[in-house]
Parts: sequence; structure tokens; C-alpha cells
Amino acid sequence: MRAVNTAECHYFSSKEADNEFLHKLLVSVNKRFFQNRIKTNVLWDVPKGTVSLFIGERGPLFHPGDELYSVFATARTLIEAGQPHSAIPHLEACAAANHADSKLLLSHILKRIGDDRWQKFAREYNQQTATVRAVPAACYYSDSRTIAIHPHLQELNTPQFVLKYLLYHECCHQLIPSPLEQAHPPEFMEWERKAPNRERALAWLEKQGFPTLRTTHAP
Ligand SMILES: [Zn+2]
Repeated sequence: MRAVNTAECHYFSSKEADNEFLHKLLVSVNKRFFQNRIKTNVLWDVPKGTVSLFIGERGPLFHPGDELYSVFATARTLIEAGQPHSAIPHLEACAAANHADSKLLLSHILKRIGDDRWQKFAREYNQQTATVRAVPAACYYSDSRTIAIHPHLQELNTPQFVLKYLLYHECCHQLIPSPLEQAHPPEFMEWERKAPNRERALAWLEKQGFPTLRTTHAP
């Protein structure tokens, strides 16, 4: 129990980073970037809810003009035409380039025809698209007009530019309400991308293991 008490003392001894400190940062972000339009509270509190954090290895995305784009398109056409057998070599070419969707389709087709290789492709697909549930670094509650910043950031001596980025992001949520099915619609992203020190802050948060909008499966 002693260890817990020590940790708690340390946690509360960080006078510079209390709720008042967060509030001052919010005031400066609100003034500089939002002309004081944002009306919200801010406090250290574990954000409620989780997001899906991508921990797999992203394979390639094929774009029109890529050689494998048309190979994959041919495979899809064959599957839709009821000829999944003929699609196999096309999908294998894409899977060899680490294309996740091709691995998934191959696992289904091979399983159906009793080819044991389906397990290899299923396993690879699952590893590649693996996610875990994670608590975000910050969130905004529109009903109570409150921004919560994860207290773990208080213990980590988080640089101010990271806290300011998080505050900016959460302020954008008040400015541009998102539909339920899309947390970060295009209009939101137009504002969000102008956040100060955005790249540096995202990189710092990701290094600490926090999910960010670059690493999560956005709805
Ligand atoms: Zn957000």
C-alpha cells in the first residue's frame, strides 16, 4: 500500500499542472485560435469510452494506375461473376504484396474449396488488422461542455505543445459537432489540420502509446 500512497503524493504534488493550469492553457488556445468562441471547462479526468487502436501492420492501398489495382479489380469481378476459383491467382499476387483484403478473400475461398492454405491467409489477415481497445488522451463531452484530459499525461510531464494540441482538437469538437457515425467529418478535419504543432504532438502521443486519429479506426 505504501507504493500506492507514494504514487498518489507524487501525483498531487505536481502543482504546476493542476486543473487551473489546464484552464489557463485552454484560455490561451481559445483566444489565439478561436477568438474566445469556445465555452467549455477542462479538467484532468480519465476519458470515458474507448477507441479502437490499430496495432497491426498496414498493407498497401492500391490506387487506380497501380499494376495490382487492376489485378485486384479483376479478382473482384470474377468473384462477383461466380468464378471464385479463377480469382485465386489474382488474389495470390495481391496477397504476396501484403494486401490485407486479398488475404481475407483468399482465406474464404480456399476454406470453401477445402484448401488448407486458408488458415495461413486467415492468420496473416488477423495479425495485419489487429486492434486493441484503448482510452484516448482526451475527449469532449458536449452535454456538459467539458474537456477531459487523461491524468496519465499529468504524470508524464507532458510538454505544453501536446496539451495545447489536445485542447485545440477538443475545442474543434465544440465548434463542429460530429454526426454519431463519423467522429471526424471533413469539415472538422479542415479545422483540426490547422492545430499548432500538430505533427509533433501526434508523434509524441503515439510514442507514449496513446491512440490518435492517425492510429485509430475512425468510425
Ligand atoms: Zn476527436
